[in-house]
Amino acid sequence: MVKHSKTKLVCTIGPVSNSREMIKKMIENGMNVARLNFSHGNHDTHRATIRLVREVAAELGVYVGILQDLCGPKIRLGRLPDEGVRLIDGQEAVLAASDDDCSGCIPVDYPGIYNEVKEGERILIADGMMELAVNRVEGRRIYCRVVTGGIAFTRKGVNMPQSKLQVSAFSEKDRADLLMGLEEEVDFVAMSFVRSVKDLDEIKKVISGSRNAPKLIAKIEKPQAVENLDEILEAVDGVMVARGDLGVEMPLEQIPHVQKRIIKAARMAGRMVITATQMLASMVASPRPTRGETTDVANAVLDGTDALMLSDETANGRYPDLAVETLSKIARAAEPYAMSSLSLDSVDSYGASSFTRAIGRAACWLAKDINAAAVVCFTTSGYAAYSISMFRPDCKILAVTLTKSVCRKMSLIWGATAVLGKGVTDTDTLIAEARLKAKEAGVAKAGDKIIVTAGLPFGLTSTTSFLRIIEVD
Ligand code: PGA
Ligand code: MN
Repeated sequence: MVKHSKTKLVCTIGPVSNSREMIKKMIENGMNVARLNFSHGNHDTHRATIRLVREVAAELGVYVGILQDLCGPKIRLGRLPDEGVRLIDGQEAVLAASDDDCSGCIPVDYPGIYNEVKEGERILIADGMMELAVNRVEGRRIYCRVVTGGIAFTRKGVNMPQSKLQVSAFSEKDRADLLMGLEEEVDFVAMSFVRSVKDLDEIKKVISGSRNAPKLIAKIEKPQAVENLDEILEAVDGVMVARGDLGVEMPLEQIPHVQKRIIKAARMAGRMVITATQMLASMVASPRPTRGETTDVANAVLDGTDALMLSDETANGRYPDLAVETLSKIARAAEPYAMSSLSLDSVDSYGASSFTRAIGRAACWLAKDINAAAVVCFTTSGYAAYSISMFRPDCKILAVTLTKSVCRKMSLIWGATAVLGKGVTDTDTLIAEARLKAKEAGVAKAGDKIIVTAGLPFGLTSTTSFLRIIEVD
């Protein structure tokens, strides 16, 4: 087994990786979370993939999270000839809604589009590779000038960053996909193109009625989401810096500092954060990443991201398992520097309102002072593990919890290893259990010091208030 990075690795499963052999290799190389992209595929294949990932993870004795990534209000081109349609710089292109019969028009899968775009606005196609400027809207036709040409193909993405679209945040397809995900008890659900907390109302309603609610991740890929970041963070368990669409919706040169802002805000709010898209893009075709990509991955770790994500690299690329191994290696090389830059006093402990976080920080200070091998935390929801992880301790974090589901839900928390434990009501048993789990998990050996944190009684939701230094015998 390759040594795991503390930074968690999210890998998109796609045609090149959807097999027992490749999933096994990717887990061995460091994959912590498998992402299923619901912009593609059908329920049967996604269901089969979820079961396969869990089966292989169980065989390997690890917990791998499943992240269901919902399309949200992504707008795409409609059906075009197989050879595509060439858009030539300076020429006119006419757009119409796909349900509108118009020969010679470029169809867009968004009914009523002509009501919502205005003269002067920009329309971007295929991740911004092509750009149109709206000259005028006449009836149901949108007359545009081609600013940057190219060849447009069926189903390519369309971004209209300047338009105020009324498109619903949570479509009927999203609902059907989510219900299937809930049935399979996915661990994380990511919502695309969130603009404000209002966009999350519906999905939160559906999730909260479920038997085993997944953690909710808002993908930050619209400028409005960046503006509303603080209120979005309040409403979710984590966010994704979704640089693909964000880099189309905002000027590209803004992405580096917006990424830093999102990561910092998430950490301050005690929320998980995934940095995504094109991290090792050249590895779709090449066995080695570029120097720029290598530096980008390391910088995301230095920014303080909990997790890094691969998309095309593992879904459609030539080297899926090698891409995971490479990502892990770069992360591991960067982590010692991240630990020293994200210092213990860089995060507010929220005063007395969060005992859990204050204990988390205290545990990390202590671990440093006494050179502890690990912090062992007993956590019911996983929040206590996050409250230690956010201070980026040098030592191991072992999170003991009561269900496999919570173990999987901790698969996005930086540096945390999750194990199953039992409910404990008294201190002596708790300490014995901590020693045992630390040895079993290999995070401490006889003679090592460990720090134990818990809320007592463990198993009933209770705020972490217990902290003790013990020696492993
Ligand atoms: P996507 O999201 O891959 O589903 O578009 C990530 C991104 O936009 O970066
Ligand atoms: Mn996106």
